Amino acid sequence: MKQQMSGAGAQTLTMREDALNLREAQLAAREKQIALQNLHFTAVMQHMPYGLSMYDGDMRLIICNAKYLEMYRLSPEVVKPGMSGEEIAAARITAGTSPKEEMPGDFIRDRSQMPVDQGLYVSDRELEDGRICSVVRQPIPGGGWISLHRDVTARRDIEKKIAFLAHNDALTGLANRVQLHEQIRTSVGKLRRQGDSVAVLCLDLDHFKNVNDTLGHPVGDALLQAVAERLRTCVRDTDMVARTGGDEFAIVQAGVDQIASTTSLAERLVAVISAPYDLGEHQVVIGTTVGIALAPDDGGDADTLLKNADLALYRAKSSGRGTFCYFAAEMDAKAQNRRLLELDLRKAVASGEFELFYQPIVNLQENRIGGFEALIRWNHPTRGRVAPDEFIPLAEETGLIMPIGEWVIRQACVEAKSWPGDLRVAVNISPVQFRNKSLAASVIAALAESGLSPRRLELEITEAVLLQNSEATLATLHQLRDIGVRISMDDFGTGYSSLSYLRSFPFDKIKIDQSFVQDLVKNPDSIAIIRAVTGLGTSFGMTTTAEGVETKLQLEQMRAEGCTEVQGYFYGRPTPAGEIDDVLAAFNRLMQAAA
Ligand code: C2E
Ligand code: MG
Ligand code: MG
Repeated sequence: MKQQMSGAGAQTLTMREDALNLREAQLAAREKQIALQNLHFTAVMQHMPYGLSMYDGDMRLIICNAKYLEMYRLSPEVVKPGMSGEEIAAARITAGTSPKEEMPGDFIRDRSQMPVDQGLYVSDRELEDGRICSVVRQPIPGGGWISLHRDVTARRDIEKKIAFLAHNDALTGLANRVQLHEQIRTSVGKLRRQGDSVAVLCLDLDHFKNVNDTLGHPVGDALLQAVAERLRTCVRDTDMVARTGGDEFAIVQAGVDQIASTTSLAERLVAVISAPYDLGEHQVVIGTTVGIALAPDDGGDADTLLKNADLALYRAKSSGRGTFCYFAAEMDAKAQNRRLLELDLRKAVASGEFELFYQPIVNLQENRIGGFEALIRWNHPTRGRVAPDEFIPLAEETGLIMPIGEWVIRQACVEAKSWPGDLRVAVNISPVQFRNKSLAASVIAALAESGLSPRRLELEITEAVLLQNSEATLATLHQLRDIGVRISMDDFGTGYSSLSYLRSFPFDKIKIDQSFVQDLVKNPDSIAIIRAVTGLGTSFGMTTTAEGVETKLQLEQMRAEGCTEVQGYFYGRPTPAGEIDDVLAAFNRLMQAAA
């Protein structure tokens, strides 16, 4: 029985043991699995790039990772599971990492209870230490929550920088065009009272390019920053200073109730900018010119106001730099006119609407016409004949003087070739033509094509030519003079009239500007100047030509002062090429009659 029982019992026992073993094995496996899971969980917790914290339904800390402690500068010795939300909040206040916008008391109180809002919560908060933390909080079933924390300060800085650059100039930190337009729009929008205005001032630095070209871009940049700094000191907090281009700035002066305040701002700007700058080892002096448009009178939107301030700036510049000028309606009409003229001028080059007139130059010693000056005329299809003073400056600004000037040289050489004897032709060359290295080559080509002797060609240049890039200019002049072309200094007395220019190159001729000849009666100084120039001519071995001789009296005075040549209406106006023979014949008759 016992054996029987023991047999059955033993079997049961064995079964139980087996079950126990199995259970143990299962438990062990489960434990192992849990340990492994724990290991994974800890690995995730400690290596995730976010701070993590988890609270239970009683607002007590279940767990947080090292990143969380590090982010909020909390010590692992202090912060332990089981700590209340309030205690942790207090620890963060001590560490200086509580949210900036929350009072410490509110921050602690908030941590004592579960948030009312049970949904997903996302917020970026600035901490007391200046960093920005992004927090995502998610409630968990059964109470409590889990939250992720991330330091987004670097990203915010980049975003801020991008936002700054979208509205500011990177070099000077001033507002850029975008912000300038916005500011004009809002300031004009705020205009309420009758008589109030918004002033838009456009500034251009004078001589900045010289500094940039001679001292280099780093010095140029430093100068622009210094200018920006000075401009800031000239305006009120409600005004805006912007940089709109290389050396161009603009100011919006809001709430102007008296025009005098804009005038005094403009005067201040001109004075402040022209004070010397100390830039490291360089001392630099520049200036500024200002154009002003006023809203609502001169325009109601940013584009119109800036355009009109620019037109005023243009006017200010042409009346001498270092000044300011208010916009006037007639400037716009002038600008429109210029634009139309420019379009027409482009067409004129293509369709050959130019013609050369010739004016005799009389040699007083030999009593004969020594040559003719070629003077361009534009036969405009609707405007009629346009004088060079009306379109040469525009051609120079637009670069159209290059093709025009080349045409003049070729045409003058071809026409002069058909003239009798050794008559010379004088051609005016613009300073702009010297900027192109091919000037000498095109003169040589024109001589070769026409077969005109270089000795019969004279080039008239002004002092302005010698002001620019003088080494290259002098090389071109020498090259031309070496092949026999004569070089004249035109309009002497109107520019700097510096003796150094006369010494810098062996000119063949000085042409005394017509203003001196025509001023003789009114201004006794003129005769002294003419006398001095003819004296210079004699001692340097140069011909002296008096321009603008209109009367017999003027002619006689010029002869008495020792001028070797005269040119002017007295002997003949500029005439078309086809009339040269008539001019020569008429002159000869005049001489014979006088003899
Ligand atoms: P400029 O070279 O000094 O030419 C003399 C100007 O004085 C000419 O004016 C001529 O018609 C004018 N003139 C001559 N005698 C008298 C006179 O007795 N009384 C008065 N009141 N004026 C007189 P124009 O033809 O209108 O040319 C004006 C300027 O335009 C020229 O001054 C020259 O600087 C420029 N120019 C003319 N043709 C050309 C050209 O082909 N190329 C370039 N770059 N400039 C030119
Ligand atoms: Mg001339
Ligand atoms: Mg002249």
